[in-house]
Amino acid sequence: MVSPYATDFVTPLSSCPRCGELMSAAEALPGNSEGPPEPGCFTICGACAALLVFGQGLIVRQPTKDETDALDPEQRRRIVFGQNRVLAVHSHKEMPRG
Ligand SMILES: [Zn+2]
Repeated sequence: MVSPYATDFVTPLSSCPRCGELMSAAEALPGNSEGPPEPGCFTICGACAALLVFGQGLIVRQPTKDETDALDPEQRRRIVFGQNRVLAVHSHKEMPRG
């Protein structure tokens, strides 16, 4: 399935630890560096908007409490922005057209 998001990077196939959605691409969060994701980068599940981290081999996992505690206010703002956008895309899809 083609992601509705721009700026996708191909990543190894892994699944969201929360909802099980298979992921093989990632989008840089707005304001992040333009490059492809690296281990330790945060990402957001395109299906359930869970906050995730790329681990070793770019397999996504849930962030630890230490990792989320270390987020600065600007990172939190970007994450919430990304999560809201995922949720908006899904609510838009489910809205009847016309
Ligand atoms: Zn998910």
